[in-house]
Amino acid sequence: MAIRIPIAVSGRHVHLSQATIDQVFGPGHQLRPRTPLSQTGQFAAQETVALVGPKGRVDLVRVIGPPRTSDQIELSRTDELALGVNAPVRLSGDLTHTPGIIVDGPAGRRSLRSGVISARRHIHMNPQDAQRLGVRDGQIVQVKIDSNDRDLTFGDVTVRVRPDFRLELHLDTDEANAAGVTNGDFAELLNTGSV
Ligand SMILES: [Zn+2]
Repeated sequence: MAIRIPIAVSGRHVHLSQATIDQVFGPGHQLRPRTPLSQTGQFAAQETVALVGPKGRVDLVRVIGPPRTSDQIELSRTDELALGVNAPVRLSGDLTHTPGIIVDGPAGRRSLRSGVISARRHIHMNPQDAQRLGVRDGQIVQVKIDSNDRDLTFGDVTVRVRPDFRLELHLDTDEANAAGVTNGDFAELLNTGSV
């Protein structure tokens, strides 16, 4: 029987360190939650920043809270082309040898030396889901999307298992558009040992 995974589409966004928040929003600024995200404890903040690259500028980029130890800028390939940056496909947190960008906010701007990535597509799940689906943390799987007119199977999908994760396939806007899906659609997990 097909195993249906809910899809969540991630638009461009930034995770900022408190040092960067201080610089672009003002010293001691605290992010104001706007909407909770599906993965535990994270929220879309009311705050947005502009990103400035060698070829262009993108305004109204959502800040995701709470603050992190490292700045991480997650862009689609389309965003990268508009800004003139060439970022590698990485899992969240894997930021070595990534390009930088300028973050521009109401109180100032900060030039980041690194931190820009295209998010590697991934499935969040808890250990119970992993057991039920016959996969383990770090496993690379395929997902098949059956949409109207744009059916697509994605490989290179990383399974991420943590007790506080909720079952969800995360795609960026380029990937979701290529497959003709949006938030709340479903994908089917392929190539696992489950029955
Ligand atoms: Zn995710």
